[in-house]
Amino acid sequence: MKEKTGIVDTLEERQPYITRKQEKGQAIPLACDNNSLAGAISQRACVYSGARVVLNPVTDAIHLVHGPIGCAGYTWDIRGAKSSGIETNRSSFSTDMKELDIVFGGEKKLSNAIDELMGLYCPPVIFVYSTCIVGIIGDDLEAICKNASKKHNIPVIPIKSEGFKGNKSDGYKAACDALKQLIKRPQETAEKKPEVNPEVRKPKINILGDFNVAGDVWLVKPLFEQMGIEVIVSLTGDSTTRSISGAAEADLNLVQCSGSMNYLAKWMQREYGIPYLSASFFGIEDISIALRKTAEYFDSEEMKKKAEEILETETNRIMPEISRVRERVKGKKAAIYMGGPAKALTLIKGFAELGMEVVIIGTQTGKKEDYEQISYSVRDGTVIVDDANPLELAELLVKQKADLMVAGVKERFIAYKLGVAFCDFNHDRVVEFEGFDGFVNFAREVDASINSPVWKAVRQRTLKPEAVESEREAVKGVNSGKPCVKQYKDISMGPDFLNTKPDAAVKSQA
Ligand code: SF4
Repeated sequence: MKEKTGIVDTLEERQPYITRKQEKGQAIPLACDNNSLAGAISQRACVYSGARVVLNPVTDAIHLVHGPIGCAGYTWDIRGAKSSGIETNRSSFSTDMKELDIVFGGEKKLSNAIDELMGLYCPPVIFVYSTCIVGIIGDDLEAICKNASKKHNIPVIPIKSEGFKGNKSDGYKAACDALKQLIKRPQETAEKKPEVNPEVRKPKINILGDFNVAGDVWLVKPLFEQMGIEVIVSLTGDSTTRSISGAAEADLNLVQCSGSMNYLAKWMQREYGIPYLSASFFGIEDISIALRKTAEYFDSEEMKKKAEEILETETNRIMPEISRVRERVKGKKAAIYMGGPAKALTLIKGFAELGMEVVIIGTQTGKKEDYEQISYSVRDGTVIVDDANPLELAELLVKQKADLMVAGVKERFIAYKLGVAFCDFNHDRVVEFEGFDGFVNFAREVDASINSPVWKAVRQRTLKPEAVESEREAVKGVNSGKPCVKQYKDISMGPDFLNTKPDAAVKSQA
């Protein structure tokens, strides 16, 4: 048997993607920003999925997936981005390509689908997503969309998101390219734009990279409005074709999800002269930084005073509840696995505010500089991983003795099967996590999951590496027909589990 060399027992080619925290100033020896290794069964989603996740919150758009029905499995329900008005985006549309379409081409089917949707919904925009098979058979999406656009007099935008043609980040880029087509050039050019003077006219901002999951952005916009700032649009949470079209009127872009939106922010800076700042609206420290640096940017004493007032009032209001939860969760160990690095970084601070320690941190789309920042922000011994697969995450949770995993829908069952508490930050949640009240919601969810009585009632590992080995031996024992109850004694389980016969015990862990 090959000797284990890495932090976890994984494919040799995956070892460079897993490392530990480095000292400040040291380059992080972590491979990242590459396409997923074939056969590694990455948790990362495909290009199409990356595009869909960014565009789906555009509430009045038709999102038409040109491909087999399986690709359309990504629906609004996977990530409930809320709308304050129209909810066309909650319906899923697909051309449902079948074998005959793949043999003879799906262009006619797509064209008919667009006509039918126009008749039914009269939308202001249609996004047409390309999928793997469309890339393979070569349907001319651009030509069909161009014709449909002329015929119906609305933008029908092809999203070049064939699943195989890169990674999730390429999907973000394809989505931003589509958004660029909806942003209209403002009346004044960048050179003519009047100087921002909060005493004379209300400064305007866009929030980039907030998808209004569970209504997040509705807890953030009022903070800026209280500071005398108008939020033109949040891209893309709770946005409409009309609000997006006015985005170039902004004086400043605040970028929260940098992985998905830095590309658009840079383009808006080049094209319209709109500068951008990174910001996070999660956790007391990061919200404070976001409000203060926005006020600083506009250089208004009035705005700075208002920001301080908001921070004092809101912090005093939520601290009693945060302190109560902190007493219940302090010292617990957290694992973070996010799509993008910005959320991972802000979560480190959020957990510190709850007195918790981060022992694993990973992302699907982080770049070298993101991981360097992550490395400086975590404690010694923390494992940092890029583009992980379920087996790596499972082994890390056990080895690092995590008490809680915070991640998205695909990671939930990895944690639950190990008896580890879980908090969904990205997809399935129904309460806001941003803003001051959102942080209280997050703290309560972390507490509820870590301290849930369910962990006393279900099979739970001791979270020792030996336990995993022991379990592997037990499975081998069953496969070879030998009794294996003895080995399971190393694993802390409920009495019912210990009383089951070996075969049943093994089946129950599947
Ligand atoms: S686009 Fe390709 S990889 Fe993505 S869901 Fe469809 S078939 Fe799967």
